[in-house]
Amino acid sequence: VYLKAVEAYGFKSFAERTTVEFDQGLTAIVGPNGSGKSNITDAIRWVLGEQSAKSLRGARMEDIIFSGTEKRQPLNYAEVTLKLDNSSGLIEADSKLNITRRLYRSGESEYFINQAKSRLKDITELFLDTGLGKESFSMISQGKVDEILNAKPEERRHLIEEAAGVLKYKKRKKETAAKLDETMLNLSRVNDIIFDLE
Ligand code: ATP
Repeated sequence: VYLKAVEAYGFKSFAERTTVEFDQGLTAIVGPNGSGKSNITDAIRWVLGEQSAKSLRGARMEDIIFSGTEKRQPLNYAEVTLKLDNSSGLIEADSKLNITRRLYRSGESEYFINQAKSRLKDITELFLDTGLGKESFSMISQGKVDEILNAKPEERRHLIEEAAGVLKYKKRKKETAAKLDETMLNLSRVNDIIFDLE
C-alpha cells in the first residue's frame, strides 16, 4: 500500500482544495516555519481517526477548520481525502482506496471509504495491523523517538504488538468477551424469569 496523494480542503491552512502528491520513494516537504508542513501530517493522522484536538495542536476539534485570514472568509467544513494504492492487496479493500473525513462547524463528522459513508470503526479496522494506523510507527514526528526510548515496557510492547499484527486479535477478543458478559447477564435474567414462573 502506498499513499499516492492527500487532498485537503478547509483543513487548517488549506483554504483552497489542495492536492499533495507523493511519488514512490522519498518525498521531502520543505518550507519556512509556520508555512503548513506539519499541517500535512496532521491531515493524514486526522483522516486515520485522530480524536485528540490537542495532538493536532488545537484546543477543540473545530480548530482544524480553516479559520480565515485578513483576505479570506472562514470555511464551514474541513475535508481531507487520502488516496491510497492498494494493488498489493495488503488492506482488505479495492486496489484504489480513497478515505475521507469531513467535519462541520456544528461538530458533525463524517467518514467515507471510496465515497461510501462509513464509520470510524471501519477505517480503524482496515488499517489495524498494517502499520499505517493513526498511532502507528509509520509516522514518526518530532519527539516521538525520545518518547519510544523513554516509554514504559508495556507501552513499547503495544508498538511491537501492532508491528507483529496481534493487535487485531486482541481487539476482537475484547469485543467477544464483552458480548459474552452481556449474554451471561441476559441468561441470568431469563433464569430469574423462569424461576418466577415456576
Ligand atoms: P514549523 O516548521 O514551525 O513546524 P510548519 O511549516 O510545520 O511550521 P504548521 O505548523 O504546519 O507549519 O502550520 C501552521 C500554520 O497553519 C500557521 O500559519 C497557522 O496560522 C495555520 N493554521 C493552523 N490552523 C489553522 C486554521 N484553522 N485556519 C487557518 N490557518 C491555520
